[in-house]
Amino acid sequence: MTASPTVPVPSGTLAAEVDSALRDLRLAERSQQLDQSPEFPRAQFRALGERRLLGLRTAAEFGGRGLPLREVAATLHQLAYGSGTTFAKLSLQPEFCGVLAAHGSERLRADFFRPLVDGRLLIGNQVTEPGAGSDAGALALRATRVGDEYVLEGTKSEAAFAADADAAIVYAKVGEREVSVFLVPQTLEGIHRTVGSPDLGERWMRRGTVEYSAVRVPAGNRIGPEGRAFDFLKEELTRERLLLAAIYLGVGRSSFDEVVAHVGVREAFGKPLRAQQAVAFPLVEDWAQLDATWLYVEHALARLEKGEDVVAQAALAKRMATGVALATIDHAIQFHGGRGYSSALPHEQRWRDVRSGGIAHGPSEVMLRVAASRLWPRPGPSAEG
Ligand SMILES: Cc1cc2nc3c(=O)[nH]c(=O)nc-3n(C[C@H](O)[C@H](O)[C@H](O)COP(=O)(O)OP(=O)(O)OC[C@H]3O[C@@H](n4cnc5c(N)ncnc54)[C@H](O)[C@@H]3O)c2cc1C
Repeated sequence: MTASPTVPVPSGTLAAEVDSALRDLRLAERSQQLDQSPEFPRAQFRALGERRLLGLRTAAEFGGRGLPLREVAATLHQLAYGSGTTFAKLSLQPEFCGVLAAHGSERLRADFFRPLVDGRLLIGNQVTEPGAGSDAGALALRATRVGDEYVLEGTKSEAAFAADADAAIVYAKVGEREVSVFLVPQTLEGIHRTVGSPDLGERWMRRGTVEYSAVRVPAGNRIGPEGRAFDFLKEELTRERLLLAAIYLGVGRSSFDEVVAHVGVREAFGKPLRAQQAVAFPLVEDWAQLDATWLYVEHALARLEKGEDVVAQAALAKRMATGVALATIDHAIQFHGGRGYSSALPHEQRWRDVRSGGIAHGPSEVMLRVAASRLWPRPGPSAEG
């Protein structure tokens, strides 16, 4: 990695453990294969669980390491630096299911969360619907209480692991505006799952649609009190967005280091490319942006650990990190010339994978909306984080 004081490195032996996982499990190579032949990488997911690289922040009683957030971010950055978004995002999977860890019953946590942290069970998140994406307040999938069960009716769309998840955390309307969360095994009767058209990047997620037709879910599978879903979602999205920012910066940094090395030796017009200001100056700007955005992320994580409200900073961090990483990777493609544009080099896949950061977990424009709502607060509940 670049000798820069702002490059995050996990402390203790963790950095060495991540390096050995990258090497032994050949994660960079596997990530490239998954781009060509998309499938959920069960074997590597399990192996990450065995190495305790899932649930980095999860409490030890659930098999996690219970690390502070800044340490988690540094670890994800290192994973992303070494292998792109795929396995860093998989490492975050228990974090994406934070509502289950924080608000699920003891039974739900033992039956679902613990196996997730071990890498034996995949749990998806289903919020988005055909008529409700950025505007999660417009959800239509309904859960109706009937005795000891809820009956789910409606459609979820755009969901990662649509056909591969063993269970899903499903957000459903229970009242006029109130939304509850349910842990739904995906094998229940009445569930129909379809994988959609292949994505631009991160194809291993095999996103698609899940239809619920009179699906009966035990009332005990509700996560937390009735109607509190948006409060949970807000907490979860704040952490997720900051940690996703760490991942995107890690991917951007890998392309940065590679292009810096390349322009130092590649010659054109009788001198190294680095001697052209048109090549050097954009890379110097990328350097500053990568460092500055990392410091912003770290600062927000430190404030979050102290219990401060960093909803706006998390939204802005994800937006900035996505933009910085995309710009940096784009320069890597450009300054590697013809090979940069081809799949012989990793940059084009990295660009396609990171591009999802402008849409997933809240589109970049909505991140500005979220931040604006902190500058000019409005009373009442909000679905936007
Ligand atoms: C890789 C990936 C993985 C995903 N995984 C999941 C998953 O596991 N579970 C899940 O539930 N969903 C998932 N999603 C879906 C994602 O959360 C939604 O696509 C996202 O919230 C946007 O919703 P939408 O697609 O309905 O777009 P829309 O809401 O239709 O918005 C379209 C575009 O309009 C613009 N826009 C929207 N609102 C505003 C506004 N107020 N101001 C300015 N511009 C605006 C934005 O550019 C936005 O991208 C995933 C998406 C991707 C790309």
